[in-house]
Amino acid sequence: MSAGSPKFDYDVAIIGGGSGGYAAARTAAGHGLKTVVIEGGEELGGLCILRGCMPTKALLYAAEVMHLVRHPETWGIRTEEVSFNFAQVMARKDALIKEFADYRAHQLQTGKFKFVRALASFIDPHTVELSTGEKLTAKNFVIATGSKIAPAPLPQLYTLDCLNSDTALKLKQLPQSLIMLGGGAVAVEFAQFFARFGVRLTLIQRSPHVLHEFDLDAESELEKVFRREGITLYTGTKLLDARRLGAHKEVTFAHDGQTVRVQAEEVFFALGRHPNIASLALERIGVHVEYTRIVTNHRLQTNLPNIYAVGDCAGLHEIVHIAVQQGEIAAHNIAHPDHPLEMKYRLLTEVIFTEPQIAAVGLTEKKADVLNVPYLAASYPFNDHGKSLIMDAKDGFAKLLADPTTGEIIGGCCVGPMGGELIHEIIAAMHKRMTVHELATMPHYHPTLAEIWAYPAEELAEMIPLSPAHFSRG
Ligand SMILES: Cc1cc2nc3c(=O)[nH]c(=O)nc-3n(C[C@H](O)[C@H](O)[C@H](O)COP(=O)(O)OP(=O)(O)OC[C@H]3O[C@@H](n4cnc5c(N)ncnc54)[C@H](O)[C@@H]3O)c2cc1C
Repeated sequence: MSAGSPKFDYDVAIIGGGSGGYAAARTAAGHGLKTVVIEGGEELGGLCILRGCMPTKALLYAAEVMHLVRHPETWGIRTEEVSFNFAQVMARKDALIKEFADYRAHQLQTGKFKFVRALASFIDPHTVELSTGEKLTAKNFVIATGSKIAPAPLPQLYTLDCLNSDTALKLKQLPQSLIMLGGGAVAVEFAQFFARFGVRLTLIQRSPHVLHEFDLDAESELEKVFRREGITLYTGTKLLDARRLGAHKEVTFAHDGQTVRVQAEEVFFALGRHPNIASLALERIGVHVEYTRIVTNHRLQTNLPNIYAVGDCAGLHEIVHIAVQQGEIAAHNIAHPDHPLEMKYRLLTEVIFTEPQIAAVGLTEKKADVLNVPYLAASYPFNDHGKSLIMDAKDGFAKLLADPTTGEIIGGCCVGPMGGELIHEIIAAMHKRMTVHELATMPHYHPTLAEIWAYPAEELAEMIPLSPAHFSRG
């Protein structure tokens, strides 16, 4: 361990012990820096474990099992009466989360760094005041304070006491009907969970389609499945009003030139998250904040060169492995200022854990068009693929985008069974800068879901002449 910088208590102080903060701490301590993690939450674990990725995926998997059990006829299986015990569904999720959170608490408390339970706010660029009343100094800081549920765009929504992704995880019983406000990842995942457990669901989304950062083919596929499963979808809406109506809650919105009113027992607010930075008193030290997020360069440095920000508080991508990677890079850069690393987003991946799962890496067609990047695209449907027919999982497709000159794969999208797993083949291929020609000739075991990638790869390979570079690579 370093003896610390002579003038400061620590080489690095990390504010926030979630995924980004823990990754930064482990890396900084691993590089021999005298490190402290300051964590101010009531519970240890961070968003991913306590109220994000893990509990929601545990619930979605239960919903998938529920759906399969309710529709066994395809396989010649008969079930007499299917029912469920919601308390048990939630208890299984709680037990898993406790295990993950206990492990993270253990990692934080036994790491090669000091761990302090307190909220921190800045006094000057090298000093924070803790909620315990103490002060602590550090040569460098990594801010990793995460995000919180965004404020409501309509003040009337506050009178409804809406559910959100925090409170829904603590429900003791299911409502009979629910209005989902929003069409992003959190909205569509929770919507399918509730609907598959028998809640009458209406989803109201402002943009013309759900998941608007994906291509239209992916958005439309999910909308098709949602409608088939009985979810009522309103897209391209504008919220106008919200109020209580006896035992129900009512939301009024404009849609297709009409004013529409929908009532339900509960309203779920899923209109996004904002960086959680209010408690840090950043205004005292002049850290640059834009649209509520801390601005950093690709080295994760804010405008104050000794202060870094990682994860949701730096706000561009609310994705846990990005928070982790940013934490590691920030810590590396503090330890090795002469050999800095930069965050690269070429392999940016997003997965939506609905059924079908929706996963994309690199460029989408939408993004390529905005960035003016030339591409060729080809896709192949799961309703014409051996393994997915065996599984009766016929929704969706696998799509590749390739550079029209070199054939390098520049994007992939998989909507379909285990799309979140399947996309990793394309992440690996893009990581190694593979061409569609190489992917097309790579062996795929039969019959697997993964072999679907060979079809768009072959189609693109036929369209793109092999470059001399391909032969020289062997
Ligand atoms: C419902 C939901 C589902 C999600 N599902 C996925 C998914 O499937 N896959 C995926 O990649 N991402 C998912 N995410 C996003 C993912 O959880 C986040 O991107 C990630 O957890 C952010 O990590 P972080 O380290 O930035 O913040 P956090 O994990 O939130 O950590 C921030 C920590 O800072 C502490 N803190 C805050 N202020 C202070 C202060 N002033 N002083 C000291 N401590 C402070 C907090 O107590 C907290 O522990 C999901 C999010 C939600 C809400």
